[in-house]
Amino acid sequence: MKIQSVEAVPIAASFRSTFRFGTTDRTTSPNVVVVVRTEDGVTGYGEACPVPAFTSETQASIVELVESRVAPVLVGKDPERRLPLLDELGRALRFAPFTTAAVDTALLDLLGRALGVPVHVLLGGGYRERTEVHGSVGWDADAGKVADTAREQAASYRWLKLYAGRGELDADLDRLAAVRDAVGPDIGLFVDVNGMWTPSDLVRALPRVEEIGLRMLEQPLPPAAADFQRRLVGELRVDVAADESVRTVTDAAAVARDRTATVVNLGHSKLGGPTAALHAAHIALGAGLEVMVGSVIEMELATAMGLHLAAALPRLAYPSYLMGPLKYRERLTEEPLEVIDGHVAVPQGPGLGVTVDERELARLDARRSS
Ligand SMILES: [Mg+2]
Repeated sequence: MKIQSVEAVPIAASFRSTFRFGTTDRTTSPNVVVVVRTEDGVTGYGEACPVPAFTSETQASIVELVESRVAPVLVGKDPERRLPLLDELGRALRFAPFTTAAVDTALLDLLGRALGVPVHVLLGGGYRERTEVHGSVGWDADAGKVADTAREQAASYRWLKLYAGRGELDADLDRLAAVRDAVGPDIGLFVDVNGMWTPSDLVRALPRVEEIGLRMLEQPLPPAAADFQRRLVGELRVDVAADESVRTVTDAAAVARDRTATVVNLGHSKLGGPTAALHAAHIALGAGLEVMVGSVIEMELATAMGLHLAAALPRLAYPSYLMGPLKYRERLTEEPLEVIDGHVAVPQGPGLGVTVDERELARLDARRSS
């Protein structure tokens, strides 16, 4: 088997409504679909979903990197040597995690299709056939609006992810309390602070975090305040997930060593691909930490990859952020993503197990002049 071509298709994608978190307002998503083809007609797809909060990569830079750095490394090579090829790729692509993630995914998809097995089999086999997902309630200044969205989502999910850190601290905590009042005591709530609290904010917030019944704080402090976060973890008053502080496998090892979190959020996009994410997962689990599967709100291809990753992990501390496609107006695959009973099924077909709609992909190509 030999790789014949590697192509990058920039996608014009948009969200159904503005999604606010951290310091970011997202309405569009400059995703790129990476297409790897072999000489004997097998195709693999991956998706890059660059988010400025995590990477300096852009849609244009990803296309450029795939054409000028990735294709020269991969064309003519045997995709069955996936890890050696990724090592080689690592020398051509420095600090381009979202690009690398798309290529890693496309190689896994290609290989799975060629061998007739789903990607989670290539990752070691599935521990589960479906994974629980959580709802995600974007930040809004209007507490009533946040509570309404949470109430709507509580009909579909047992867990909701909320956001804080953007507003004034007490107002943010009031919004979180309004959500608890709206959804009642049985819905699990956790909050992503995107590293925007100071240690003083955390000291002030903690009693109300407990009173509201927030089960977990995701990245409450910036990576630079890791020592304070370590002390919070030492008190074991609330579960703490590391997200922005784990952007590489080496970062995961540091969190495991320094005990700055109880849970590691494994987004395969930010970590530079499912291979790195799995490596980070094994380090975290081996050190006695828990893991969860995050994302950067991805379309069907990256989401399918996340589902296979989640399937291949022995334990998941929290539901996964794998309902991103529901936030998009556009769809890349013939199969829609379905949340049933708060869960999404892990695709069981070969490769990613989803079917790219080639006509739709051509229509969404951002290079089209129309
Ligand atoms: Mg996060």
